[in-house]
Amino acid sequence: MPGIEFDNTYARLPDGFFARVSPASVPSPSLIKVNGPLATELGLDEAWLKTPAGLAMLSGNAVPTGAEPIAMAYAGHQFGGFSPQLGDGRAILLGELVGADGVRRDVQLKGAGQTPFSRNGDGKSPLGPVIREYLVSEAMAALGIPTTRALAAVATGEWVQREESQPGGVFTRVAQSHIRVGTFQFFAARGETESLRELADYVIARHYPDARQSENPARALLDGIIDRQACLIAKWMQVGFVHGVMNTDNTQIVGETIDFGPCAFMELFDARTVFSSIDHRGRYAWGKQPSIAHWNLARLAEALLPLLADDEDSALKQAEAALEGFSGAFNAQFVDGFRRKFGLAPSFATDPKGAESFVNLCFDVMAQQKVDFTLFFRHLTRVAGGASPEQLLALFDDPSAGQQWLEGWHAAGPKNVEAMRTVNPIFIPRNHRVEEAIQGALRGDYAPFERLDAVLARPFEEQPEHAEFENPAKAGEIVSHTFCGT
Ligand code: AMP
Ligand code: MG
Repeated sequence: MPGIEFDNTYARLPDGFFARVSPASVPSPSLIKVNGPLATELGLDEAWLKTPAGLAMLSGNAVPTGAEPIAMAYAGHQFGGFSPQLGDGRAILLGELVGADGVRRDVQLKGAGQTPFSRNGDGKSPLGPVIREYLVSEAMAALGIPTTRALAAVATGEWVQREESQPGGVFTRVAQSHIRVGTFQFFAARGETESLRELADYVIARHYPDARQSENPARALLDGIIDRQACLIAKWMQVGFVHGVMNTDNTQIVGETIDFGPCAFMELFDARTVFSSIDHRGRYAWGKQPSIAHWNLARLAEALLPLLADDEDSALKQAEAALEGFSGAFNAQFVDGFRRKFGLAPSFATDPKGAESFVNLCFDVMAQQKVDFTLFFRHLTRVAGGASPEQLLALFDDPSAGQQWLEGWHAAGPKNVEAMRTVNPIFIPRNHRVEEAIQGALRGDYAPFERLDAVLARPFEEQPEHAEFENPAKAGEIVSHTFCGT
């Protein structure tokens, strides 16, 4: 096996930050997919990844030269309750690679066996979640949303016991970082201020180098993380994405989408949309995502208190001031994003109240009229390009309500149809299509997975030969709940 030029900075941190582990061996791995363009970005040889030696690495059967496999320690609030000890229980960080673009990225195997953080879990992953994460994370990347990426998916040839037995898989995740809000919480909860400081220094050096120049680097770091999260959540909402499990251990500090368990895309517009089968109270509904992100960031601010100032009062003031920045940053991104989706000029946002009420009115109409969120903006783009509004109006229960809304939109000024085409996707990973790909994979038929992955790689382009992928689920196909499948 050739050496891969891993450069493992996290493994140089003190012992308490991680545990050294070895991936488990699996009986008869087979390759489902390697992401060629991403491999190239990382400086990896796609052809080699597809050889038996490459497959051995991607399945956990062999550790390449230069890798130093570790499981990272972290804590986290899950559905509001704090667990002081979570950590990588079914994920193993192989190492870091610096790509041709100079960006350092983690390469991690998900489902490669137990670690000291597995608690009662088996450290394995069923194939379903592997297929889901591959499809949805790559779709997010193609939609231009910051996200962890999919380098590869393999089937392990063994069975994983869940509610039912399922074929097992290993997913290779690539991320700018696997550090989470929960990583800071881990040290804060133990009162390990020196480790907390070391973690903050590491994150600043690797991800927020500008913060080092600041008078108060910890505050600048907090501001930076808050800003990236605000931007991320706004982008999620603009494509109807519902993360589903926005726990602080799933809130990554670079602002990439991480953990595609019970996530899904909203079809009929409803701000209360949830998918996770374990989210009974709608804590993580589409419309609640900004307030939950703010809550998660408040937990981060709390964890950082010892670094924000020497005395507690000043530290609290710093934390509060930083958190106050969230709603301004989020609202600006949110309104500006919808401005683009409506094709309106930047001047739209000069009256923020007016802009917000324009957006909210549209949401109200969509909710009352049971309009598919993605198709609405897709057909609105066509109307802006000169098409007849027939298909757009057909989305409304009562087309005259659509007509009325459309008059307001026409009156709002000239439209930038080119800009609309870059922000209003035609193809999103609709839940029933993801489910179809998963069901195929479970039978050993990867054709639906391959087809969907290819369609989703070009979400903004017309693909008339794949027009059926534009459509929401028919009555019998609706997937109302998704499960993490852990
Ligand atoms: P998640 O809900 O996927 O964010 O995972 C929450 C925690 O549970 C993390 O510490 C995971 O590593 C751990 N976990 C989830 N599934 C498993 C599993 N099958 N085996 C061991 N640990 C797991
Ligand atoms: Mg997680």
